Amino acid sequence: MAEGKIIKALSGFYYVLSEGKVFQCRGRGVFRKQKITPLVGDYVVFQATGESEGYILEICERKNSLIRPPIANVEQAILVFSAVEPDFSPKLLDRFLVLVESKQIAPIIVVNKIDLMDSQTKQSIEQYVRDYQRIGYDVIETSTVTKEGIERLLSYLEGRISVVAGQSGVGKSSLLNALRPDLQLKTNDISTHLGRGKHTTRHVELLEIGGGLVADTPGFSALELDDIEIEELPLYFPEFRERSDECKFRGCLHVAEPKCAVREAVEAGEIPSYRYENYLSFVEEMKERKPRY
Ligand code: GDP
Ligand code: ZN
Repeated sequence: MAEGKIIKALSGFYYVLSEGKVFQCRGRGVFRKQKITPLVGDYVVFQATGESEGYILEICERKNSLIRPPIANVEQAILVFSAVEPDFSPKLLDRFLVLVESKQIAPIIVVNKIDLMDSQTKQSIEQYVRDYQRIGYDVIETSTVTKEGIERLLSYLEGRISVVAGQSGVGKSSLLNALRPDLQLKTNDISTHLGRGKHTTRHVELLEIGGGLVADTPGFSALELDDIEIEELPLYFPEFRERSDECKFRGCLHVAEPKCAVREAVEAGEIPSYRYENYLSFVEEMKERKPRY
């Protein structure tokens, strides 16, 4: 018996990575017993029946799982933004951060295409970088053209299962190619946008990059906050969470309650007003959704 991770699922086979070797495994009814379908990312106990074959005996308990792409035990999300083309959007970043935090996944913020910044853009990006670092997030500025920041990003991958997320065109494929040049994934140039479009990958695979595993399909493509309760939302803004003990009311939503430490921090300039405004817009969005039964 041995342990490993499923790195690919295809045509009824599960490809299990164990001590640097890949075993093509069958399920052998273990899934009927456990009543779960194995996912890429699952830790499994398996029995090798040859040099590169075997069958799975047990799926270990999952830390979390994503639906799109279907992948288990994601530990880290690399949230890719570009400084320009498309412009950096703190509102989209805050939405990603809420989604990622709600799944107990550690975010890494990447600001790509820094080679394209003019001096004005540079100033505003640098301010954003400082703001998010002050909250406690890791922020990496990269360029797949000059290769700035690529080594640093690589160092974050070791020993972890990561998923990359971000809008189309920010440079996700280019970054994966820069991190592992032998990959040569298709990038979204205008020419490759034609025809079948961007969703040509039908299955997920974990790629070995920088001593870690990275999903080859972007995660968090559905950006709805549907699975999150309104009371949870303040927990996913770390700088709000750490101040909420000082709010007058327990369970303060930091909207209109008196003596709210979060609103005081916004007024004092300790929390950037755009973070607070994004928070309020998420609260509104959640209030407007239909009640669930
Ligand atoms: P994806 O849709 O997020 O996977 O984005 P792609 O990797 O396909 O990149 C979209 C476009 O941006 C392509 O034309 C890339 O060549 C370009 N691109 C990606 N990274 C950079 C960068 O760091 N600097 C510049 N100047 N262009 C980049
Ligand atoms: Zn409050």
